[in-house]
Amino acid sequence: MKSVNETREPATAPRIWVTTVLFASTALAAVTLVPLYGVLVGFHWYQWLAFAVIGALCGFSITAGYHRLWSHRTYEAHWSLRLLFALFGAAALQNSILVWCSGHRRHHRHVDDNDQDPYSARRGFWFSHIGWMLRDYPSGREDFSNARDLQRDRIVMWQHNHYVPITLAMNLGLPLLLGLLTGDVIGMLLLAGVLRIVVNHHTTFFINSLAHIWGRRPYTDENTARDNDLLAFFTFGEGYHNYHHIFQTDYRNGIRWYQWDPTKWLIRTASWLGLARNLKTVPTMRIQRAMLTMQFKRAEQKLQESNHRESWRELLEKEAQDFSAALNEWKELQSRRYENARERLLAKWESAAIRTRVKELEYSLKMQRKRLQIMMEQFHLCPATAT
Ligand SMILES: [Zn+2]
Ligand SMILES: [Zn+2]
Repeated sequence: MKSVNETREPATAPRIWVTTVLFASTALAAVTLVPLYGVLVGFHWYQWLAFAVIGALCGFSITAGYHRLWSHRTYEAHWSLRLLFALFGAAALQNSILVWCSGHRRHHRHVDDNDQDPYSARRGFWFSHIGWMLRDYPSGREDFSNARDLQRDRIVMWQHNHYVPITLAMNLGLPLLLGLLTGDVIGMLLLAGVLRIVVNHHTTFFINSLAHIWGRRPYTDENTARDNDLLAFFTFGEGYHNYHHIFQTDYRNGIRWYQWDPTKWLIRTASWLGLARNLKTVPTMRIQRAMLTMQFKRAEQKLQESNHRESWRELLEKEAQDFSAALNEWKELQSRRYENARERLLAKWESAAIRTRVKELEYSLKMQRKRLQIMMEQFHLCPATAT
């Protein structure tokens, strides 16, 4: 792993003035002109409504469109939905689908590698939040060799080739039109244009910065990505970033029913309406396996730190044996199902029996996770001298 100082990136890369001026001026206007206009003239409810509706459309175009559809191919979408995402994604002012997704695929492939991850969190909060876009760093150079599939998507290429006029139409044209229709152009431009862009920007940027710094790591600790409920609330569900980094082909980020993931709900609703299909999910057993592996790892670390509590070790080893037996049985069932399906041999009753057994194994791993949790809690309560 490389630290901030070990990166081979130049200390100062050439500044990219377009993005620097754009980010600085919109942020400055959002904290000065917007409140000033609010105090001196006042905003109408319909301007706030436009702010919320366009903001939500832009947010979902990034999360459900740029991210889960185009970057990760977690489902397929009807052209009308893709067009909507392309238009409001341009309004979110985060570059074209092609540039965004190609960079994001590199982020996943080389996560935390300071030389190849365009927004490596190991280079600090500022860099991963916004700094990476303000200078022409070698790690951020465009390379579409990982996005050939996107280059075959006509909507993606149309948006990429006409990015500036589409962005101008969506960011200036739309609020201007709404302003003319409602009689207050400046108020509409300030709320549905400026403030909305700044909010859209920083909520997305938090995924690259905060979601790699602050939160828990229930599925893997091999990268910096975290699960963070608060962040998920402000980012349409993208805050479950630890899950997302290990299972990037899953259309969900928050997998539990109580986790806030409106992007997942939107994709599911779109599939009910016939606008999305082939929604991909990761098998529950793989999720349980990841969580249990992490729990064992943590339990093992705790044991190492203590005065070698042999009774605990025995218990833990017994659990570890059960775990690997369950995994072996699951792998065996998977290969039997795969082999039989390939040769079209699997009888209906046998297929149902395998499914039932997999469900039982899933349940047993869930119970094991609970047992380990209780073990760790008791372990904490034990006096340090106990053996
Ligand atoms: Zn991703
Ligand atoms: Zn990430």
